[in-house]
Amino acid sequence: MTKELCQKAGVRYGQLSLLKYGNVRIANAMVSGILPCFRRIYLTDLLVEKFTPEEVQGVLAHEIAHLKKRHLLWLLGFGIVGTAVISPLAEYIGLLYGSAEIISLLTFIIYWSVLFSFCSRIFERQADRCAVELTGNPEALVSALNKLAELNFVTKKWGKWDIFQSHPDMEKRIKSIRQFAAPAWGEDRQAVGMEIIVPTQIIVPTLQRGNASMDAPASRLTSLPILNTISRGGISG
Ligand SMILES: [Zn+2]
Repeated sequence: MTKELCQKAGVRYGQLSLLKYGNVRIANAMVSGILPCFRRIYLTDLLVEKFTPEEVQGVLAHEIAHLKKRHLLWLLGFGIVGTAVISPLAEYIGLLYGSAEIISLLTFIIYWSVLFSFCSRIFERQADRCAVELTGNPEALVSALNKLAELNFVTKKWGKWDIFQSHPDMEKRIKSIRQFAAPAWGEDRQAVGMEIIVPTQIIVPTLQRGNASMDAPASRLTSLPILNTISRGGISG
């Protein structure tokens, strides 16, 4: 099934890995690697232990969507531009006006925090919707997001300072998924589509913290048909 997802997305990957956090229990998934042969998709032991196969599939599809949309590459570009252009430019302007510290601080806040978080939230919504397209199962992804929030004790709604959050809150993500997946989505989808047309990509893996409990046995990983497929898949797509 996962191999099919990767093929459907036109994505290649190197390996699927199980992350064991020991007594620190985190339900999470992430992806790394820009070059296909170095790409890794990670699932934590708590996620594998607690999620249904359909929910795991939704989470995997979300991570695969980050690869499909080249979010990692855009993130790298964001970092290069920030380091090679924005920071030196801010320093130059600061020296020009005799307030280097203030300009540097403002640049750091605006570029590396607000703008980065803004792009990251767009990418998360893109990945959610792409995951729905890949699986055709929006409710499984919604269920997975709810479970992530519960297991990791993450609030489902950010406050007014969510401009600094790298992920939209769960309520917004779930609303976005349901809008996208709604049968009569014409107007809704167009409205939301406008919002994600802005920049197209950058990455930020889905990371949220959990509470402590026991380790999940590694055999649980291979007991899931979805993961068996991806484990055997190797570099695919
Ligand atoms: Zn994500």
